Amino acid sequence: MKASYDVAVIGGGPAGLAAALAADGRGAKTLLIERGANLGGILKQCIHNGFGLVRFGESLTGPEYAHRFISQLRESGVETATLTFVSKIEKRPEGFELSLVNRDGVIKTECKSIVLACGCRERTSRQIGIHGRHSAGIFTAGTAQYYTNILGKMPTKRCVILGSGDIGLIMARRLKLEGAEVLGVYEAKPAASGLTRNVYQCLEDLDIPLYTRRTVTRVFGEGRVNAIEISEVDENMIPIHGTEERIRCDALILSVGLIPENELAESLGVPLDAHTRGPITDQNCMTMVDGVFCCGNALHVNDLVDYVSDSGEIAGRAAARWADDSEERFFAELRADGSLLYIVPRKLNINDLASPTIIYFRSRTDMEKTRLTVTLNGSEIFTKMYLRLRPPEMERLKLDLKSMNVKRGDIIGFSLSPVYSNERTRSEVRENSSDMEVLE
Ligand SMILES: Cc1cc2nc3c(=O)[nH]c(=O)nc-3n(C[C@H](O)[C@H](O)[C@H](O)COP(=O)(O)OP(=O)(O)OC[C@H]3O[C@@H](n4cnc5c(N)ncnc54)[C@H](O)[C@@H]3O)c2cc1C
Repeated sequence: MKASYDVAVIGGGPAGLAAALAADGRGAKTLLIERGANLGGILKQCIHNGFGLVRFGESLTGPEYAHRFISQLRESGVETATLTFVSKIEKRPEGFELSLVNRDGVIKTECKSIVLACGCRERTSRQIGIHGRHSAGIFTAGTAQYYTNILGKMPTKRCVILGSGDIGLIMARRLKLEGAEVLGVYEAKPAASGLTRNVYQCLEDLDIPLYTRRTVTRVFGEGRVNAIEISEVDENMIPIHGTEERIRCDALILSVGLIPENELAESLGVPLDAHTRGPITDQNCMTMVDGVFCCGNALHVNDLVDYVSDSGEIAGRAAARWADDSEERFFAELRADGSLLYIVPRKLNINDLASPTIIYFRSRTDMEKTRLTVTLNGSEIFTKMYLRLRPPEMERLKLDLKSMNVKRGDIIGFSLSPVYSNERTRSEVRENSSDMEVLE
């Protein structure tokens, strides 16, 4: 007979750990499935500190952060299956059937609701169209990190890093501390893509140069990389002919973007958001397919693990509730204008409005002194001012939408605009509004 669960959580990283604990906490019979040998996800290889500042008020290493959840899991009723890969999910009248592949072969199991917490994957050189031989020596930053921190092997003696995302910045520092020559971090955009704190701590503190508006156009070397070609790019990121420069190195480390791992979601017909590349969800992290939830980096790429754990908890709790008692959902829509890169969630299930609703967003460009305006069917319901917004730094907002009398089909709009010096002063803002936040 097949085993059957209320909730199956796929992925044993921080999102999946939080989701499984939350589902178990609500009394759901829960299975946590992880393809790797150990729980912890990407945190296992992140031996630097900086994790948990929001949740625990402490700067933990990745393994220390994961351990706090893994030790709770051992005390909980969650069943865990490691070295087990979820290869297929099929919808059944009463829930879902999962095909699990492990050393015993293919096992089928059933559950009433599913939490997808599969994390994300790194873009490769093929996906960004680098020409030339694809010989040994081209690593994604996460792979270089795995070699250095888990296997204890140096992937390079002299390297160039393409892309200034957080993993690239962190690996620039790591490789330099381990004795490699890090010739520079090259970035096609006009500014770094990673968190400001990482630019200071990983590059400036270690004298590693950041070259903006440049990209790698060719890779040279038989068998192993021995040089790369760098070109300047124009405002459309197109390489400028005549600016080519050849640099001798034995490795090219890529930190050129992360994409949510969403094959399982797609196989279930879950609609994806074109901007985040993760599923469209409601405020409880339920996708547009009833009973399928998504959280963490599988939902959208997060820069802070604390928010990953938050979304895992929301998804786990709601998945347990759904397994117990499913109710039809009715949606209002959350829409961002062109000044925002994206907003999560995109739907609000008005049948299940708790207070507050947590919203994540990123600005499209660097913005100073900016006002976020939230409207309900075109009428302003909330504003907040920000001193600075940057696309790499995700913002988290708590909104009381329950008291706003939102109805099915309503549109909740989000836009960012500059604050002009002749606008109301701080004290006027404070006096005039209870739900309005002001510049610090
Ligand atoms: C290099 C690096 C540095 C970082 N630095 C910081 C930092 O300083 N501070 C901070 O707060 N955050 C940092 N982060 C961000 C944070 O670590 C991530 O956002 C977080 O780990 C994502 O958690 P997750 O659970 O969504 O995904 P993951 O940690 O990637 O976990 C996903 C898990 O799902 C499993 N899985 C996937 N598909 C399947 C399947 N089909 N079947 C079974 N299992 C599956 C995978 O094996 C994996 O274990 C960093 C991230 C990276 C990569």
